[in-house]
Amino acid sequence: MANILDENITYLKGVGTARANLLASELGIKTYYDLLNHFPYKYLDRTKFYSVRELNSDMNYIQLRGKILNVEVLGEKRKQRIVASFFDGTGTLKLVWFQGLKWVQQQVVPGKEYVIFGKPTEFNGVMNFMHPEIELVDNFKDKPDFSLQALYNTTEKMKSKFLNSKAIHKLQQNLLPLLKGKLPESLPAYLIEQHKLMHRYEALYNIHLPQSLDLLQKAQFRLKFEELFYIQLKLLHLKHYQTTSLGGFRFEHVGDKFNTFYMQYLPFELTRAQKRVLREIRHDTNTGHQMNRLLQGDVGSGKTLVALMSMLLAIDNGFQACIMAPTEILANQHFKSITELLTGLDVKVELLTGSTKQSQRRLIHADLVSGEIHILIGTHALIEDTVQFKNLGFVVIDEQHRFGVAQRARLWKKNVNPPHVLVMTATPIPRTLAMTLYGDLDVSIIDELPPGRKTVKTLHYNDSKRLRVFGFIKEQIALGRQVYIVYPLIKESEAMDYKDLEDGLESISRAFPPPDYAISVVHGKMKPEEKDKAMDLFVRRQTQIMIATTVIEVGVNIPNASVMVIESAERFGLSQLHQLRGRVGRGADQSYCILMTGNKLTTDGRTRIKTMVDTNDGFEISEVDLKLRGPGDLEGTQQSGIPLDLKIANLGRDSQILTFARQVAQDVLADDPRLTKTENFVLKKQMELKWKYEFNWSQIS
Ligand code: ADP
Ligand code: MG
Repeated sequence: MANILDENITYLKGVGTARANLLASELGIKTYYDLLNHFPYKYLDRTKFYSVRELNSDMNYIQLRGKILNVEVLGEKRKQRIVASFFDGTGTLKLVWFQGLKWVQQQVVPGKEYVIFGKPTEFNGVMNFMHPEIELVDNFKDKPDFSLQALYNTTEKMKSKFLNSKAIHKLQQNLLPLLKGKLPESLPAYLIEQHKLMHRYEALYNIHLPQSLDLLQKAQFRLKFEELFYIQLKLLHLKHYQTTSLGGFRFEHVGDKFNTFYMQYLPFELTRAQKRVLREIRHDTNTGHQMNRLLQGDVGSGKTLVALMSMLLAIDNGFQACIMAPTEILANQHFKSITELLTGLDVKVELLTGSTKQSQRRLIHADLVSGEIHILIGTHALIEDTVQFKNLGFVVIDEQHRFGVAQRARLWKKNVNPPHVLVMTATPIPRTLAMTLYGDLDVSIIDELPPGRKTVKTLHYNDSKRLRVFGFIKEQIALGRQVYIVYPLIKESEAMDYKDLEDGLESISRAFPPPDYAISVVHGKMKPEEKDKAMDLFVRRQTQIMIATTVIEVGVNIPNASVMVIESAERFGLSQLHQLRGRVGRGADQSYCILMTGNKLTTDGRTRIKTMVDTNDGFEISEVDLKLRGPGDLEGTQQSGIPLDLKIANLGRDSQILTFARQVAQDVLADDPRLTKTENFVLKKQMELKWKYEFNWSQIS
């Protein structure tokens, strides 16, 4: 047989047809390889004992040592159950069994000392263990290898057929000895030696059957490293391919439009960070290779201006440019501010969105093809196939996290050579995630706000303090400021959220009556014209309060608005809260973000609110977000095409291993970009195996 890992799981001792079917349908485990790579999700330290006094119902599986006091059989027939009281010197709890009562009656004897193991739940003020594992203390002591017990994910259906975590553990015990001496290394020998990595078999053995904490940690390191290393190798290889093989337009000179704008039109001095990024872009676009650059910068850091100046550079070199924004409001806003900034310069800018009229659309299409239009601003409408350019040389994608990699790629197809791509995001992505999601991009960071900005003060209030908050809003309005009040909008319950907003509107209309106050309302159910009208009133300061759902989250820029009230703030994710807060603090006045919540917050909810109150640093916030939610749930990562549901590594927790893995991958490729050296043969093979990915080695010069 070719490879023992391809062996059908049915033939493993302890499996058989029924279990094999269950493993396949529930967990997708069909072969030895699949089972071997079904890693434990955690380990229980079975040397640690808890006491009854310290229990709470948030705890996961734990163990205690104590005496059974008495055992009762309660209920009739189907409702029959055994309830035992268990005492450990610090308190009493109840053990409950509904099944296997005969067995329980034999095993559980009053007066004897036991180790019990299970998950505590609270019921009528008493701690309960339902169906705990139970073992006489004397027997427990005799068990070897019992200090670190691997726990495996299973499903309800599997558990009902007794294919629980313990059963999987048993299968791993059957499998591993069969593989001894038969697992070829999946990393080159020189890397293993150089970085003192555990060998593959030993690592897999200790992941499932840890012989000590030390060996477990070494095993985890090796497997996490391997997982992250191959992702980085793939991304860096791709990047290498793009930068060395794909041709790119050359923006050779800085011309008239750029210079005139910079010298005569720019109303302020660029920050040092903006200048640095412009230099980076200028360099990239003059190499003859395609630029793929991610521009990260906190809200309000002036990314749009950098984008505009880069586009002028493109135009000076005879190319067209476009900006793609995720919403119409944003596209409109870009259009407005860019046309304003360019007034007097001979640059033709057009707007193309879903609501552009057909007749206008036709004109735009024609002017794009003839090259009359220099800059096209729009939404997804830009990537429709009917939109063709004469010579598209530079693409800006704003707020990237809403566009997938696939959409990025579609823009490339609009020209013979791919245009340079600048991806802008105001949702800072943790470094680790950026390395993975955008590992094929170069990253620029604007880490400096334009001068004179005051940091937004963030306050947290309970709903009961609403009147105080209203009083504060009145003070601010009296000072001439404007106020946003935002309500959550979560897809699943749009109707309910809409009701939140309506109720809110009612109470706010009462607290802020005309003619002293005027209110704008913007939400997703409105027609674009209605939305624009409401926005416009607010922009022109005809209204002082803007009540909205999260449609205003991204990019809206109204410097006079200095208060952002977020209702039910506990229902928002961190990146959303940060985005919303970024809507204020754009003018010279002190701004405020007020987070309104109920009294009862979950642990995560409390962490989110506290993080917002404690810091304004978007990167710090994104790190917390990553830890709370995991990468798969972070905004915009779903369609990334990169496997984020890693098997063993965790992008939130394993950032050091990731950095290390990326460095090693870089070193390997620097030395052997096509992986043609004998010692790297295993890398090439693994890449093909893991990514089922056609490497175009020959194209790399
Ligand atoms: P971002 O897109 O990064 O959120 P914008 O480009 O929209 O930020 O800039 C926010 C505001 O700051 C805009 O009103 C812009 O004109 C202004 N701005 C940008 N750069 C500077 C600068 N160097 N000095 C002063 N104001 C700036
Ligand atoms: Mg912006």
